[in-house]
Amino acid sequence: MPAIQYRNFIDGRFVETSAQFEDIDPATGEVRALVHEADAALVEEAVAAASQARRGWGETAVEDRAAMLGRIAAGIDRRAEDFLKAEVGDTGKPIALARSLDIPRGAANFRVFANLITSASGEVYESPTPDGLGALNYSIRRPLGVVGVISPWNLPLLLFTWKVAPALACGNTIVAKPSEETPGTATLLAEVMEEAGLPAGVFNLVHGFGPGSAGEAIVASKGVQAITFTGESGTGAHIMRAAAEGVRPISFELGGKNAALVFADCDFDRAVEGVARSTFLNTGQVCLCTERVYVQRPIFDRFAAALAERARAMVIGDPWDERTQMGPLISRDHRDKVLSYYQLARDEGAEVLAGGGIPVLPGKAASGWYIEPTIWTNLPQTARCLHEEIFGPACALIPFDDEDEALELANDSSYGLACSIWTSNITRGHRMAGRIEVGLVWLNTWFLRDLRTPFGGAKLSGIGREGGRHSLDFYSETKNVCVKL
Ligand code: NAD
Repeated sequence: MPAIQYRNFIDGRFVETSAQFEDIDPATGEVRALVHEADAALVEEAVAAASQARRGWGETAVEDRAAMLGRIAAGIDRRAEDFLKAEVGDTGKPIALARSLDIPRGAANFRVFANLITSASGEVYESPTPDGLGALNYSIRRPLGVVGVISPWNLPLLLFTWKVAPALACGNTIVAKPSEETPGTATLLAEVMEEAGLPAGVFNLVHGFGPGSAGEAIVASKGVQAITFTGESGTGAHIMRAAAEGVRPISFELGGKNAALVFADCDFDRAVEGVARSTFLNTGQVCLCTERVYVQRPIFDRFAAALAERARAMVIGDPWDERTQMGPLISRDHRDKVLSYYQLARDEGAEVLAGGGIPVLPGKAASGWYIEPTIWTNLPQTARCLHEEIFGPACALIPFDDEDEALELANDSSYGLACSIWTSNITRGHRMAGRIEVGLVWLNTWFLRDLRTPFGGAKLSGIGREGGRHSLDFYSETKNVCVKL
C-alpha cells in the first residue's frame, strides 16, 4: 500500500473514507498515493460546516482576513519543497517549471488578493431628489456565502489557489475539489490552512471525480451559493445546467484553441522561441497553449523549419531531472486522446514536420505517458485538428497573406481564450488585438501575467472574468445603500 494517503478536510479535521482511488505518477505509471473519495453525504457535511462558519468568517475584519491570507502564503513558502514533491509527483511536470511557476504562484495568489481586498473601494453617488435635498448612494461588498470551487489537473496549485484565495479574501467559506488526477497540493494546502489558524469550516476540501462523485455533489448541493469552475467547456455546460437550479452565479474558465499570428516583420528568433514555448510548456497542457500558428507567407518555410528544429531539440524525460524541459502527459487516457489526434492529423492530410508518436525513453520512463512534441503543416482550415482542443504538445502551421486573412483565420474558432501576435509593427499589433475575438491578447510575448488584470475567455472559453477587482466582483455580493438626505 502506498505510504501517501490524501484525506478530505472537513470542519477543521482530516477525514478518511472507505472508498479510495489510486493517484498515479504519470512519469512512471506507478501508484504514488491513495485518495479518500468523498461521497454525496460527506460533501453535504462539508457544505454544512461551511454554512456554519459563514457568519464568523464573513464578519471577520478585512485586515484580519488579509493577515490570514498572508500567513497561508508564508506557509506555502515554508513548505515549498513538500508542495514541489507533490506537484511534480502528481503531474509529471518538470521540477524546474513547478519550482519557478506553480508553487510560487500558489503563494502569490494569496498575497495579491490580501493586498487587493484591503484597498478595495466601493462606489458613491450623490443623487438629486425632487425636494432638493438629495440622496446619497454607496455600495458595499458582502460575501456570497458558501462557494463551490472545482479545478483541473494541469496547473493544480496555481489554479486552485487562484479561486480559493479571492473567495476567502471576500469573506466566503469554501467547499473545494481538486482534480482526481492531482489531489496532492490541495491536501497540503489544507494542512497549511490549519497551521495558519484558519477557523474550522471556512475551507473544506473534498476528493473525488466529477459525475456521480464529489464534483457533481458540490454542484447539486443547495447549500452552495456560487460555483467557480476551471476545466473543459463540455463540463462547464453540464455544471451550468445544474447551477440553473437555484439561479446560482457561476464563473467559468474553460478550454481554448489558441492561435499565434506570426507576421513577416517579427523578431524572428523571439517569435520562434515564443511560439515553441507556447506550444510545449507543460507538455502543451495549459489552456493558453498555442495549437494553431498562422505564419505570413514570406517567412513560412523558414519559420516551420525553425519550429520543427525546436520540437526535435526538446529534452523529454524524468521530471525530477533539472535539465528536463518536457514531462509526460497527465494520464494514459489523455495520451490516448492526444495520440488519436496525431492519427487524425495524418488522416486529414497533415505533413508531420516533427514528432507524431511516442518517444523511446530509458528505465521507468518507458512506462510513463510520454509523447513527442509535434509540428504539422498542410492541414486545411476545415480540419478537426484545427478546431478541437487537443491539449497536448502539438501545433499546426498555416500560411496567410495579409492582416484580414490572418484575422479571419484566427477568429474561425468556437473557442476564444487567447491569442499571441508577433510583429514589429506595433500599430498593426494594437489594431489586430482589438479585432481578435478572445479574452487575452499577447503582443510579442506569451503567458506574461499581472494578477490584477482581467483573465477569462470569449465564446466557448468561459463566462466572466477573474483577476484583480474582477475576482473581488465575482466573489462578493455588491449591495447599494440609498440614504435620503
Ligand atoms: P475537466 O472538465 O474534465 O475536469 C475539471 C474538474 O471538473 C475536475 O476536478 C473534475 O473532477 C470536475 N468535473 C468533471 N465533471 C464534472 C461534473 N459533471 N460536475 C462537477 N465536476 C466535474 O477538465 P480537465 O481535463 O481536468 O482540465 C483540462 C481542461 O481545463 C481543458 O479543457 C483546459 O483548456 C481547461 N482549462 C482552462 C483554463 C482557463 O483558465 N480557461 C485553465 C486550465 C485548464
